[in-house]
Amino acid sequence: SFDANAVPQAPEDPLFGLMAAFRRDTDPNKVDLGIGAYRDDNAKPWVLPVVKKADEKLRNDPNLNHEYLPIAGLADFTSASQKLVLGGDSPAIKEKRVTSLQTISGTGAVHLGALFLAKFYKPNSNRTAYFSDPTWPNHFQIFNNVGIPQKTYPYFSKQTKGLDFDGYIKSLESADEGSIIVIHACAHNPTGVDPTQEQWKKIAEVIRAKKHFPFFDTAYQGFASGDLARDGWAIRYFVEQGFELCIAQSYAKNFGLYGERAGCFHFITSPSTDAQSVVSRVASQLAILQRSEISNPPAYGARIASIVLNDAELFAEWEANLRTMSGRIIEMRKVLRAKLEEAGTPGTWNHITDQIGMFSFTGLTEQQVLKLREDSHVYMTKNGRISMAGLNTHNVDYFAKAVDQAVR
Ligand code: PLP
Repeated sequence: SFDANAVPQAPEDPLFGLMAAFRRDTDPNKVDLGIGAYRDDNAKPWVLPVVKKADEKLRNDPNLNHEYLPIAGLADFTSASQKLVLGGDSPAIKEKRVTSLQTISGTGAVHLGALFLAKFYKPNSNRTAYFSDPTWPNHFQIFNNVGIPQKTYPYFSKQTKGLDFDGYIKSLESADEGSIIVIHACAHNPTGVDPTQEQWKKIAEVIRAKKHFPFFDTAYQGFASGDLARDGWAIRYFVEQGFELCIAQSYAKNFGLYGERAGCFHFITSPSTDAQSVVSRVASQLAILQRSEISNPPAYGARIASIVLNDAELFAEWEANLRTMSGRIIEMRKVLRAKLEEAGTPGTWNHITDQIGMFSFTGLTEQQVLKLREDSHVYMTKNGRISMAGLNTHNVDYFAKAVDQAVR
């Protein structure tokens, strides 16, 4: 019989634990560099102006109701999501080689993809999912839940605080043929380090040679550089090269719709005479998985995003909002680096501006991170990752001085 008393205590989620510790801290100078959510220059959450507009439009729509969405979600949203991630003129869309389902944000998309692969990707033979070392920790938990064995590929070089490209490539080469390679499409979390376009081409070459299956996780398109095409380049390149692949797409960061859980899962098959039939069979199976997991996705966030994505004027306004967020973060990177260099803080700090997106892997040790928390009330994860969005013109000087003290 079930003995609930035998259930062991699970560890607290480190990130959510950190948030709770920050809230308890009463120091007026406290700085939150933990959670990956955008903050404005006053450290406040920012509702994108374009989201406010779409929200109003939605609320004033006399036809609005609260019926269920279809199993695959809002069709206007999923088709606009395809165009966003693949590019409007993608041959994969024209040739109907894509099937897409609306999901519970990026997490739900990763999960749906993992579940699908668990059931249909070489179910009776060895298969392993490879993650970058380090990666978004939830990748491990999600793939573990569906029973897919896991390994990591080298990614971050402690020496250069950039990409360990040789380690990455060697690992792809030595992995068993047909492994699942989980890839951050841009603005790698937690390191902020992305391959260059030349490096992406080599990565694609090895993935092809080894018949690996690429699984893209894109949680920061447009948020990283402010340019949707630039942040989408790697995925579009792989699709152009004819790969069969899948994509987990999140709208949390680029629309600031964190709590609305708007996301999309895409499966793209390679060009072939059979492609449409493959896609329709895959779609039928995904629908069954979705039905058993969530029945149908939540409507609100997808409706907001859909209004923006399907209106040229609002879309342009969204792009401007993206530039506001990415621009502020890029500016903070410059200021932080300059302050550390001016102070002669021991170490090199070029990686702060070389890295991109929400996060920077500072290279601070766990000991230094704890010292920063105790002495200066600065909260960041133990691996030395800071959320750049937590810095602003009011606290960047304080933070730079705190780092200077912690590393001397
Ligand atoms: N994947 C990566 C790499 C992320 O950084 C995140 C968010 O932090 C996600 C997926 C999914 O986030 P959400 O479920 O909020 O869309």
